[in-house]
Amino acid sequence: MGSDCLFCRIVAGEIPATVVRETDTTLAFRDIDPKAPVHILVIPKEHYADIATLAQGDPALAADVLATSAAVAEDEGLLGDGFRLMFNTGAYGGQEVFHVHAHLLGGAPLGPMLARDLA
Ligand code: AMP
Ligand code: ZN
Repeated sequence: MGSDCLFCRIVAGEIPATVVRETDTTLAFRDIDPKAPVHILVIPKEHYADIATLAQGDPALAADVLATSAAVAEDEGLLGDGFRLMFNTGAYGGQEVFHVHAHLLGGAPLGPMLARDLA
């Protein structure tokens, strides 16, 4: 991937981001358009399009994304009141950036899981 991918460019330092945690394999940075008091994106540095591709292609790296998400949740003081960790995937999931990212949301009650009841 690389130059065509927004989040690969953030990993490469070509586009600025407010990084809150970095490991050998992952990066966590603040969402540019936050939907909650805390809204952080956690990504693998290596390019995978979505969580299904990542989990099937490199389960250990998927685990790294979860571990970094938990560490950031702790850093941000979210463990007591709770938080939401979300992977939008594909068209129905509303995914816009096709480099897998966990949305870590918290800092206030987040309301129902979905805006509408689709069942
Ligand atoms: P999704 O719809 O799940 O693909 O989410 C993409 C997210 O990336 C949105 O919440 C955007 O606000 C966020 N985003 C887009 N560009 C940037 C950027 N340059 N830095 C940080 N977050 C971004
Ligand atoms: Zn990428």
